[in-house]
Amino acid sequence: MEKARMASIEKGVGEVLVSREEIDEAVARIGKAVTEDFQGEDLVVIGILKGAVAFMADLMQAIDLPLEIDFMAVSSYGTSTTSTGEVRILKDLECTVEGRSVLIVEDIIDTGITLSYLSKVMESRGAKRVSIAALLTKPARRERAVQVDYVGYEVEDKFVVGYGIDYAEKYRNLPYVGALKPSEYEK
Ligand code: 5GP
Ligand code: MG
Ligand code: MG
Repeated sequence: MEKARMASIEKGVGEVLVSREEIDEAVARIGKAVTEDFQGEDLVVIGILKGAVAFMADLMQAIDLPLEIDFMAVSSYGTSTTSTGEVRILKDLECTVEGRSVLIVEDIIDTGITLSYLSKVMESRGAKRVSIAALLTKPARRERAVQVDYVGYEVEDKFVVGYGIDYAEKYRNLPYVGALKPSEYEK
């Protein structure tokens, strides 16, 4: 365990899955790739609230291009640890994406339902190009094919928290990604 950084909350965390150093490495790697790939484009970087907030904040600073940022909040119906397949927009964009290049920034891709839906929304609004950056992916759980252009790390099928990602709205402030102890959500 990364020692005593967040003693108040890390009791519920069983193991570190992605360390702070690994997060920083992924942010730098993806930022550099995006900088190369979007030269000369009208780029809008869209963070998906709330889980992507930490990754979004770090990643945008690693992209050396003129860009705009905006946010969307979506929810998939279901319990706190599984999703059902229906996606609902809770907060929409303020900007227009028509004719522009969109980079969607997401915390973790699980079934792929959220991102396949959001990609279609951007395309239906006339985006010129839609790319996806996700800090984490759980390929074992995929139900919808989604092309993820930039990935930080693949993780096993464990319930992850930290670096923006919650369990029941807690743990978002953990500075690394950990696996929640099953005893936390089974009780
Ligand atoms: P998908 O639509 O790909 O199934 O789900 C994507 C969303 O489900 C993620 O953005 C995240 O909010 C949530 N999610 C998926 N796996 C996990 C996980 O292990 N922990 C947490 N806290 N949320 C997850
Ligand atoms: Mg999310
Ligand atoms: Mg959540």
